[in-house]
Amino acid sequence: MSYSNSIKSLIDIQDLNITFDEDCVKQGTFKGKACKYITGTLTYNPTHCVKCGIENKNFTVFKNGTQLSRITLPLTGVSPTYLLLRKQRFMCTECNTSFTAKTPIVERNCYISKNVKVQVMIKSAEAQSLKSIAKDCSISPTTVQRVINEVAVHLKPHHTKLPKHLSFDEFKYAKGAMAFEYINVLNGDILDILNRRDNFAIKNHFIVNYSLNDRRNVETVTIDMNAGYVSVIKELFPKAKIIIDRFHLVQLINRSMNKCRISVMNQLRTSDNEDMKKYRRLKRYWKLILKRKSALSSVEYKYYSLFGQRLETSIVEEILAYDPVQKRIMSFIKPF
Ligand SMILES: [Zn+2]
Repeated sequence: MSYSNSIKSLIDIQDLNITFDEDCVKQGTFKGKACKYITGTLTYNPTHCVKCGIENKNFTVFKNGTQLSRITLPLTGVSPTYLLLRKQRFMCTECNTSFTAKTPIVERNCYISKNVKVQVMIKSAEAQSLKSIAKDCSISPTTVQRVINEVAVHLKPHHTKLPKHLSFDEFKYAKGAMAFEYINVLNGDILDILNRRDNFAIKNHFIVNYSLNDRRNVETVTIDMNAGYVSVIKELFPKAKIIIDRFHLVQLINRSMNKCRISVMNQLRTSDNEDMKKYRRLKRYWKLILKRKSALSSVEYKYYSLFGQRLETSIVEEILAYDPVQKRIMSFIKPF
């Protein structure tokens, strides 16, 4: 995962137009309290002018400076966390007006992220005071009340229709407790949040709120590697294809490579000196096994402890060959 994507995953931001540089996290203070600032950039090429609607061709709409907003995010660690977002400003040559880049993570003229709002809503369903919710979410009690009022107005019975492309996700919302949400993949809208994520709760929710006909219209459901959902999805959305999120796929491959290596290591943990040497080599150079083949150096001889002067590629080849099964698995899942 790139640096920028790791930050995004950490603070639950899915907008592809937001990027983060290295050193984007700084300690600071806000209203006299220690906090974290994460600086990000929001930019893209608009297809149209949002004011007059003219199509953006040959720089009808051009980039013109940035505007900085401070957006409250859910806590990371123990300190309040703010996103300092450099939003791109655009200028339209047709109607001579300017406008600012938009992101689904905050609503217009709003300075707390949607994730904070979600947190407020989940906490408000528990027996917690406004004051304690405010403290947990680093916003004022008045803002908590406003968020609750705002959301209450929009609380309608369920969306009568499900989008064609759904994404299932889960997130931690309290100590050890996980919530489930489902999202419209095309616009990133959170459609609903359940405070449980077991199959029974999920199944019940969809059956109660949507007709079978409606569920038949769902074409894809994107999930992470949680195999538990697969059977539920097949039951609920008979026509849907299941897509596995590629970040989670990479994670799974790494995990299974490590698992395979550890089982080989356990077999080598004997009183035999040769075996123990292999064991120590596998233990020390586990990271090399996870490297892309093309990222391994095959020209530069260097000194490697437990090996001596060697090439990176030859080390990987040798430690994989300690076990024929390991070697075969690795060449299968890691061809490049
Ligand atoms: Zn315009």
